[in-house]
Amino acid sequence: MSAVLEVLAAMSTEIPSILSSDRAGAAGLAGRYENRPVAFLNQHGKEIVVGPVLAGGLGCQVERVRGFDTDQLGTFTRERPRSGTQLEAARVKAREGMRLSGLRLGLASEGSFGLDPMIGFFPWNLELLVWIDDDLELEVVGVGSSRNTNFTHLSSASWEEVTKFAEQIGFPEHHLIVRPFDEDDPRVRKGLADWDTLRTAFESAREQSENGRVFVETDMRAHANPKRMSVIAEAAEDLVKKLRSVCPQCHLPGFARVKPVPGRRCEACGCATDAPVAWVHGCLKCPYQETYPLEDVPKYVSPAECPNCNP
Ligand SMILES: [Zn+2]
Ligand SMILES: [Zn+2]
Repeated sequence: MSAVLEVLAAMSTEIPSILSSDRAGAAGLAGRYENRPVAFLNQHGKEIVVGPVLAGGLGCQVERVRGFDTDQLGTFTRERPRSGTQLEAARVKAREGMRLSGLRLGLASEGSFGLDPMIGFFPWNLELLVWIDDDLELEVVGVGSSRNTNFTHLSSASWEEVTKFAEQIGFPEHHLIVRPFDEDDPRVRKGLADWDTLRTAFESAREQSENGRVFVETDMRAHANPKRMSVIAEAAEDLVKKLRSVCPQCHLPGFARVKPVPGRRCEACGCATDAPVAWVHGCLKCPYQETYPLEDVPKYVSPAECPNCNP
């Protein structure tokens, strides 16, 4: 399984209800994070959606930290490519927020856009939300993903085409970015959020453009893109679920899926495939693990997923 598919497969941390009530109850989190401040370094208003989810699920107080330009670590608009993996980038931001605020709990989010890892050609948004607890020396990652993203662009000399494109992506609720010529032109106009401003930006970019074309793209910064913001909220819910699930052995938070147990059978030839029949849940610190069979999945998989029928 690729790294992305593993992240996806491990996303749902549903635990049988009998067990989850134990873990979230008296023997579980036991108010560990109640009223604790959490540093959240970000400049795009993500605390507005993340804060209430974490306050509701953990009782903690998410505090926005300022004083560091997170765009230095990478932008979606190619001025600064991100160095390292998505998770590493989130970790660097969380650590920086903790350093600036002096808090022992830190939080940061990092998004990426690309093509759907399973189907291909559809745009896809993956959001990671990393939680660092320096008292417990623990890192837990919440994950959200969606095909409902408008990560796209248009190169055009026609205002009519741009109008149509803008309507399709949900402008003006979703903001746009405009530049002359091509996607790497530095004469960029960001934060376009109403029709008059968009038209002015388009016309002046067209005048500057060597080939008369204008490059228009969706603004994927969280405050400019409600679709992305809702995927970040989903990552926050996943994080809460994982943190509320505590290890039955040592009671640390973050007891969640660690690896699949392959073995569902092919409906044509009957041989075992990589499709999981169960998931192993594990602790981040101690060796304790439990295996939960997957319920509500069909008994057999299609021959397309079978290494014997479709090698
Ligand atoms: Zn444990
Ligand atoms: Zn088969």
